[in-house]
Amino acid sequence: MAEQTGVKGDKAGKDKKDALVTEITPQSEDFSRWYLDVVLKAELADYTPVKGCMAIRPYGYAIWELIQQGLDRRFKATGHVNAYFPLFIPESLLMREAEHVEGFSPQVAWVTRGGEEDLEERLAIRPTSEVIIGTMYAKWIKSWRDLPVLINQWANVVRWEKVTRPFLRTTEFLWQEGHTAHETEAEAQEETMRILRVYKEFAETELAMPVVDGQKSESEKFAGASRTYSIEALMGDGRALQAGTSHNLGQNFAKAFEIQFQGRDKIVQHAWTTSWGVSTRLIGGLIMTHGDDSGLVLPPRIAPYQVVIVPIPRGNWQETVLPKAREIQAALAGHGVRVKLDDRDEYTPGWKYAEWEMRGVPVRLEIGPKDIEKAQVMLARRDTREKLPTPMDGLAPAVVALLEAIQASLYERARKFREEHTQRVSSYDELKAVMEGRPGFVIAGWCGSADCEAQIKAETQATLRNIPFTSGAGHSAVTCVKCGKPSSSGEAWFAKAY
Ligand SMILES: [Zn+2]
Repeated sequence: MAEQTGVKGDKAGKDKKDALVTEITPQSEDFSRWYLDVVLKAELADYTPVKGCMAIRPYGYAIWELIQQGLDRRFKATGHVNAYFPLFIPESLLMREAEHVEGFSPQVAWVTRGGEEDLEERLAIRPTSEVIIGTMYAKWIKSWRDLPVLINQWANVVRWEKVTRPFLRTTEFLWQEGHTAHETEAEAQEETMRILRVYKEFAETELAMPVVDGQKSESEKFAGASRTYSIEALMGDGRALQAGTSHNLGQNFAKAFEIQFQGRDKIVQHAWTTSWGVSTRLIGGLIMTHGDDSGLVLPPRIAPYQVVIVPIPRGNWQETVLPKAREIQAALAGHGVRVKLDDRDEYTPGWKYAEWEMRGVPVRLEIGPKDIEKAQVMLARRDTREKLPTPMDGLAPAVVALLEAIQASLYERARKFREEHTQRVSSYDELKAVMEGRPGFVIAGWCGSADCEAQIKAETQATLRNIPFTSGAGHSAVTCVKCGKPSSSGEAWFAKAY
C-alpha cells in the first residue's frame, strides 16, 4: 500500500498519485475486481492467514461503529435492550429445532477439544443464537408479566463458507441479532414488521440505500421461521443484495426450547418469538451502491470523516495557512461535523486529493495563501466532483447544509438507478431476455409454487428476492410468469443476487 513506500517530495508524490488512481480496476471492466480493489486500497478490510476471515481495518471499523450507533439508537427508541450470550452452543441444544438444524448444519464450525482433553459433547460456534437465547428465555419467562422480552445482541458469528468475499460473505462476521418473545401471535408479527421498518428507514436515511421491503418465499425463509421478511437493495452492477432480515418464528422455537408462560387466563402456553439481524454485509452494500471508478463514495451520515481539509504548503504555510486550516477545523467540529485536517507534510496536496477521493470523503476543503487573500476555500464534492470557491465567512453552516444535500442527492441517485434497472415483465421469454441482458430487478407475477421458483432460478439464475407488500396480492389479473396460473401471491421481485 502507498504509505509503506515512505518516499517523500513532489516527484514521488505525483507518481504515487497516479499509482493510486490506476490501481483501481474500472467498474465496467470487472465489477468484482473493482470491489476488492476498493476494499483493500481504501483500507476498509484486509485478508488474514485465516481462510475466509477478514481483518476489519480502522477506517472500515469506523463505518461499522456508525452503523452500530445508528441502529442501536433506533432499537432503544423502540424499547429494546442489549445483552450478551455465549459464543458456544452444546450440540444437543442445536439439534432440538429440526428445520433449524437442517438449515444450518452444513455451515457449523465445531469445537471438539479443550486444552488436552476431547470434549464429551461437541460445541458449535454460534451461526446464530436462537438456540442459546431460547434456552435462557425458557428460564427467565414464567408469566405473562415477564413479556415482552425485547433483547438485542451485538456479536460475531461463524458460518463455514466455501467462497468468501470481504464484507459480503465471510466465515466470521459481525452483526446484531434481536431476539424477542411475546404473549400473542399478533404482537410477534407486529414486532417483526416494526423491525423491518426500522431496517428500511435506517438503510434509506443513513446509508442512502433504497431498499424493497417484502416477504421471503418459503424456500428462501430462515431455517425454523414461520415467515421471513427482508430488505433488498440493488448494487451498482445490477445484482441484488439482501441487506437485512426479520423473522416471525411463531411458536417453533418456543416449543423446541420450552419457552412457556402462564397467561392472563392462567393457562400455561408457549411464547411467540421473533429474531432479526443485519451484519457487516451492509458495508459491502454501501460500497457497491455508491462507489465509482475513483473508489469509495460515502454518504455523509455514515462517513468517518465528512470533511477533509488539505492545506496547500506554499511559502511560510505553517505560520499562515495552517492556523487558518485549524480555525476552520474547529469551527466545523463545533457544528458537529466529523472533520480531518490532513497536515502531513510528507505527501503532496495532489496525492492527498486522490487518496481522500478514493476513500470516499464527501467534502474536501483546499486552502492555500491565495485562498486566504480572497477569504475563501476551494470546496470539492466527492459525489459530483464539482469544485466551488466558497467564502470562509459562514463556511461551517454552509458545509453542514451541503452535507445534507449530498446525502439526499446520493439517495436520489441510487433510487433513480434502481428505477432504471427495474422492469416489469409479463412473459417468461421476457424475463429470460432481461436476465441475459442488463441485470437488475424484474417484477413478475408468481403463483406461489416452489417449483416455478426453482425452475426460474435454474434457468435464469434469478432468485425470488421478496414479495413486496404492494404486490397486489389477491388481484386476479396477475398470472404466474412461469406457469401462467392465476397468482394468489401477486407479484414478486426477482434478481441475480449476492
Ligand atoms: Zn407458477
